[in-house]
Amino acid sequence: MAELETFRAETRAWLAENCPPEMRQPVRGEEDACWGGRNPVFHSDAQRLWLEAMAGRGWTVPDWPKAYGGGGLSPAETKVLRQEIAAIGARNPLYSFGISMLGPALLKYGSEEQKKRFLPEIARGEIRWCQGYSEPNAGSDLASLQTRAEDRGDHWLVNGQKVWTSYADKADWIFCLVRTNPSAPKHKGISFLLFDMASPGVSTRPILLISGNSPFCETFFDDVEVPKDQLVGELDKGWDVAKYLLGHEREMISGMGLGGGADSLGAALGKRLADDPVLRAEVARFDVDSIAFRAMSERFIDELKAGQAHPAQPSMMKYAGTELNKRRHELVMAAGGSDSLEWESEASRGGKTAREWLRTKANSIEGGTSEVQLNIIAKRILDLPGA
Ligand SMILES: Cc1cc2nc3c(=O)[nH]c(=O)nc-3n(C[C@H](O)[C@H](O)[C@H](O)COP(=O)(O)OP(=O)(O)OC[C@H]3O[C@@H](n4cnc5c(N)ncnc54)[C@H](O)[C@@H]3O)c2cc1C
Repeated sequence: MAELETFRAETRAWLAENCPPEMRQPVRGEEDACWGGRNPVFHSDAQRLWLEAMAGRGWTVPDWPKAYGGGGLSPAETKVLRQEIAAIGARNPLYSFGISMLGPALLKYGSEEQKKRFLPEIARGEIRWCQGYSEPNAGSDLASLQTRAEDRGDHWLVNGQKVWTSYADKADWIFCLVRTNPSAPKHKGISFLLFDMASPGVSTRPILLISGNSPFCETFFDDVEVPKDQLVGELDKGWDVAKYLLGHEREMISGMGLGGGADSLGAALGKRLADDPVLRAEVARFDVDSIAFRAMSERFIDELKAGQAHPAQPSMMKYAGTELNKRRHELVMAAGGSDSLEWESEASRGGKTAREWLRTKANSIEGGTSEVQLNIIAKRILDLPGA
């Protein structure tokens, strides 16, 4: 205990010295976040310094082993670090699918060589990754995917198409599900490949949304040659890697339910609730559910770090967190009345209120829809019979 308190004091002092004041506030949207990569875009010197300081200590991934670029902290130390970061309102120094998705899968399924090659780069934010799972005819039914990789002796030859690949046009590398055995049952002939998006034969086409943004792409593979040693886990057993990674993706997305650290929606909406007792009651109910979710989330993270979480628990957390976040934004919109719907006005923060509300709808689709999470909960946690 005394050791942990010493660690807390040292961490607090280090953060006070190394976290620039501009980084002690939430990011103002995905475009304000730091994503790293081969050609990183820093929106300020403070953003660069904050990433360098945290990566230098291995604290972008505090609980990964030091040998792979992590901080080597115990679960208890990691929790203290997170608490101290939250106490000063510091933002995440690096947004990365490498950290939240691929890294954990490599730690479990990667060869020693793959861990040494990829994990330190992920920890330092030097490579930006994208996720090549969904295809035009394989979303919820992901195991129906058709992108194939043929064994050509000294390399894999990849052909096919992915869709909804978030930031594929900005990513350096992709972690990709491919069919390596077309005659095996659909879950059993899939493998997990890593490759460079700059490889000849890879192309992306951004999908333009009605909002004017293009957060994801169609991604095409046309005779892409992938070195043999970039297959993770066993040949034809990529489904195990894919599912494990999805658990981590769902854990990350469930964080939406924490509402970016805002303690009470009632307090945030304040005066706007004064005249409406029904809305006030709904917001109070939301605040209670939000406190319960926060407690559940802390317990879940503790269980996960102790290796005691049920493998389907991330589905429960994702379902609860994303549905809660949708409720939060419905209430914010309701409190703002018709002003919230305006795209340009000051009352709608230049359309931000409505855009954020619309974005929450996608949270219960990405990483597997709410319906799919409910199916998993019914089958694997409640042990209910299948339909
Ligand atoms: C913002 C965003 C980012 C994304 N980023 C990525 C990415 O980077 N990489 C990637 O690979 N994919 C990505 N996706 C794709 C995402 O994983 C899929 O959209 C998701 O898995 C659902 O698949 P689908 O869109 O094909 O819908 P479908 O599978 O066609 O589902 C349509 C509807 O049917 C319901 N449904 C389907 N099957 C069942 C069932 N068995 N029981 C009950 N209901 C069912 C679904 O819940 C849904 O409401 C992203 C999606 C979004 C919205």
